[in-house]
Amino acid sequence: MRLGWECQNHFVKSSGPTIKRALPRIGVLAIQGDYAAHAAALAEAGAEPSLVKTLDDLRLDGESLDGIVLPGGESTTMLKFLERHGMFEALSEFCRTRPAFGTCAGAILLAREVRNPPQRALGLLDAVVERNAYGRQIDSAILHSETTLDPEPLEMVFIRAPRILEIGPGVETLAWREGSPALVRQGTLLAATFHPELSSDRRVHRFFVAEVMAARG
Ligand code: GLN
Repeated sequence: MRLGWECQNHFVKSSGPTIKRALPRIGVLAIQGDYAAHAAALAEAGAEPSLVKTLDDLRLDGESLDGIVLPGGESTTMLKFLERHGMFEALSEFCRTRPAFGTCAGAILLAREVRNPPQRALGLLDAVVERNAYGRQIDSAILHSETTLDPEPLEMVFIRAPRILEIGPGVETLAWREGSPALVRQGTLLAATFHPELSSDRRVHRFFVAEVMAARG
C-alpha cells in the first residue's frame, strides 16, 4: 500500500535506458504499533515510505521495496498476524535479501533467539534478545548514549524495551544502554532496542536510508 507522500515525481533517468526512482522506497510493516511515526521519519530522512499490510506488499520483483522497517509495538501480536496471513516466510525472505531495520518489537522479530518468554522470530540477526527487560510500562525512559554514528550523543526513547543479551561476531554495536548494545548492525540489518522515530533527531533513519541506497547500487 502506498502512502500519500509526494512519490509520483521522484523518477529520474539513470545513465542507462532504465528509469530509476530518485528516492529509495522503504516499506514499513503496518500491522500494529507506531508505523506511522516511522513512515514520517523515513520521509524526513529522504526516503519514500510505503506501508506493508499484505503478502503482496512484500513481493521482491519489479517495482518492489528497497528495504523495510519493522516498527515497535507488540512483537507477539505482529508475529501472530504474520503467521496467520502467511507473511512470516515472505518477510523472512525479504529481510534476507533487502536491508531491514527493526526497532524494539521489530528488533525482537529479527533476533536469533527471544527470551522472557521464548518466542518464534525470524532468526536473521545473530543476537539473543530479552523482552521487557526493564520491567513493564513504567519502565520507559529517555536516555542519551554515545554512538559511533558521529560524535553527538544519541537520544534514545525506550518503551517496555528489550535488552540485547548476546551478539554474534558479525554484529557491530553502534550505541549502548548501560553497557548493552542498543543499536546494532549486521550487514544490511539494523536493529534498535529504542524508538528513534519518536525523537526529532533523524540520524538513525538517515543512516538506514543511506544503507538502503548503498544496497540498491
Ligand atoms: N515489549 C514489546 C514486545 O515485547 C516491545 C515494546 C516496544 O516495541 N516498544 O514486543
